[in-house]
Amino acid sequence: MRLLEERILKDGVVKPGNILKVDSFLNHQMDIPFINELGKEFKRLFADKPINKILTIEASGIGIACIAAQYFNCPVVFAKKAQSVNLDGDMYTTKVESFTHKKVYDVILAKRYLTPEDHVLIIDDFLANGCALLGLIDIVKKSGATIEGAGIVIEKGFQEGGQRIRDLGIHLESLAIIDSMTDNSVIFRS
Ligand code: 5GP
Repeated sequence: MRLLEERILKDGVVKPGNILKVDSFLNHQMDIPFINELGKEFKRLFADKPINKILTIEASGIGIACIAAQYFNCPVVFAKKAQSVNLDGDMYTTKVESFTHKKVYDVILAKRYLTPEDHVLIIDDFLANGCALLGLIDIVKKSGATIEGAGIVIEKGFQEGGQRIRDLGIHLESLAIIDSMTDNSVIFRS
């Protein structure tokens, strides 16, 4: 998506460890008219799917998912990162390894908010190694709901996540795919 690529080139900052910081418009301060355009684009890309729920993971996916949800006219449910899991049977649980914090944490979702009748679009800000997305996919599978697709704002195409998700046969749409990045250049997949 041209608009997003231009914004990354203008305001993105590449940090050591293959981290792209987009704090000025997406991950800390949020440019709402801009994110609104991302929401519209997700709707255009998944227009033919019977999506009735958007699933994301806290924290940074939530704002993006909420804006997109207005175009899908559906609720958003977000998986929570938990310190310890209380296995009382009311929750779906999975484990996710954090790319940015390098630790494994439990992720939970109340069973009543995801059921076999649901047709789910998963949304997140970044796709790197795919752990966050695979965790969300695991939760949807446990619930018996249907995964209609996954929408990612920025995929780092030089990491393995995109391939792993596409190999599962999941309809994955990334609004920008970065093929390589250094301190002074970001190259997008054309
Ligand atoms: P993965 O689970 O695919 O390895 O990493 C995805 C998650 O890690 C995203 O939810 C995102 O929060 C975080 N992440 C991964 N790479 C980056 C990055 O380059 N920049 C930022 N801001 N977050 C990232």
